[in-house]
Amino acid sequence: MDLRMDLLVSGCEELGIPLSERQVEQFATYFDLLAEWNQKINLTAIDDLMGVQTKHFLDSLVGLSLIREELKNSALPLARLRAIDVGSGAGFPGLPLKIVWPELRLVLLDGTGKKVRFLEEVVSALKLTGVDVVQGRAEELGQSELYRDQFDLVVARAVARLDTLVEYLLPFARQRGYVMAYKGPGAGEEFMEARKAIDLLGGEVVRFAPVTVPHLDEERRILLIKKPRRTPPQYPRGQGLPRKSPLG
Ligand code: SAM
Repeated sequence: MDLRMDLLVSGCEELGIPLSERQVEQFATYFDLLAEWNQKINLTAIDDLMGVQTKHFLDSLVGLSLIREELKNSALPLARLRAIDVGSGAGFPGLPLKIVWPELRLVLLDGTGKKVRFLEEVVSALKLTGVDVVQGRAEELGQSELYRDQFDLVVARAVARLDTLVEYLLPFARQRGYVMAYKGPGAGEEFMEARKAIDLLGGEVVRFAPVTVPHLDEERRILLIKKPRRTPPQYPRGQGLPRKSPLG
């Protein structure tokens, strides 16, 4: 067992996520690759051992119990769930979720080529199966048949303000699927501004819950949205409009 991952291991115990020895090794290898690649390309501002375990790994895992609890009451197949992480960057929250939930079928999407190369390297080094890494813009892939309406679960962290983000995310979710957005301080105001857009895009808010990340004294919230109705075909809009002129 890699003892460097002690904060992760105790934090996961707190979150009720049992980690096998192999999973701890996978997180340790992920940390090593992140620290190494971050010397060459700008992946993340946080690459120290403590910061990665708390602000990246545990922060990504904090949404797990929330979504699992919700999925238990839904008709979605937990074992064969299809998920997409939009604007995954260095892999957060998608890759930590995949490590602890190996049967998840996952797409990691990012617009930046260098980050996509890094993600491919991690997927290969960790011998993860059922993961596709894709380079592209959310607002374009959300209009493509291959990705639109395809996912049971759509996740994102630190990609855009909520009123913009929901236009990126909702189109990927299949009808009756879920969107889970990780947010920090200031999310309350963003949430109020995004409510109309969520409704317009076919979504319905399930929870907007404060969450506690083990070993981290910072405010976090998770917004969970389900999609009972289809997203109208004109969304997401092109030409940068979700960002330049958010709905709502
Ligand atoms: N989700 C990661 C995290 O929490 O550490 C990365 C966050 S980083 C601040 C935002 C990432 O979203 C970048 O890697 C960027 O390339 C990607 N991104 C932003 N807008 C995007 C879009 N419209 N389509 C695809 N990727 C996008």
